[in-house]
Amino acid sequence: MTIAVRILDELRQAGIQPEVLDENRLAVPAGVLTDDMRHAIRSHKAELIELLMADQSALAARYYAHHFGCSHCIAAGRGYGNRCPVGLPLWHVFQSGVHADKQHVQSA
Ligand SMILES: [Zn+2]
Repeated sequence: MTIAVRILDELRQAGIQPEVLDENRLAVPAGVLTDDMRHAIRSHKAELIELLMADQSALAARYYAHHFGCSHCIAAGRGYGNRCPVGLPLWHVFQSGVHADKQHVQSA
């Protein structure tokens, strides 16, 4: 797990945001990776996927923690007005993290 954390850190510092497609597939923008990175990803793919999935549920938890305590964001979720400056970035990250799970987003 520690190696995966280090790989992920390195990727993010290089501006690369790997995405989990499903339990066995990871999407990484091609062309920007060095050979070392590609090799590291390939040899630790399972750990990376596990890590990213845990990351996404942490994001969702953070979003929900704010959303349900914030009247602005609750109203915005129902179509009235805009999310507050705290809730808006959380919402964007949350949405991009769970776009594969549309039902979840709609019920939020
Ligand atoms: Zn808010």
